[in-house]
Amino acid sequence: MKKIASFTINHDLLTPGLYISRIDGDCVTWDLRMKTPNAGDYLEQKALHTLEHLLATRLRNSSRSDEVVYVGPMGCRTGFYVVVRDSVSPADLTGLLREAFAWAAAFEGEIPGATRPECGNYLEHDLSGAKAEAAAYLEVLKHCDESTAKYPE
Ligand SMILES: [Zn+2]
Repeated sequence: MKKIASFTINHDLLTPGLYISRIDGDCVTWDLRMKTPNAGDYLEQKALHTLEHLLATRLRNSSRSDEVVYVGPMGCRTGFYVVVRDSVSPADLTGLLREAFAWAAAFEGEIPGATRPECGNYLEHDLSGAKAEAAAYLEVLKHCDESTAKYPE
């Protein structure tokens, strides 16, 4: 089997940021890298899960919800992938994410979709952890724009 594109980037050069992972037709996969790979600090599983619920909820209720194809965590727990249509420009996407992460960082109340019938592991959640990670990535996003969206080589 051939190596898939996301395994060919050098993870030793990656630092937290917002990168274009790949483009397939009119779908753009964005790499929301929240942690430096292989550096010993990963998103805790419970916080990652809650942040997934918050981000998916917010992005799918945004003004560009029809152009959001997928939101999901990386198995290595260093970030998320968000797939959007190419009608969402890098500047628009950055703005959407800044808004969504700010919303998540300040979230109060019941975690969306976290009841037993709605979620596959409904007890595995950590809202305060998710909020702290959202706040941390919001700081990263302040320094991200189209000029930083290319993977380092
Ligand atoms: Zn869930």
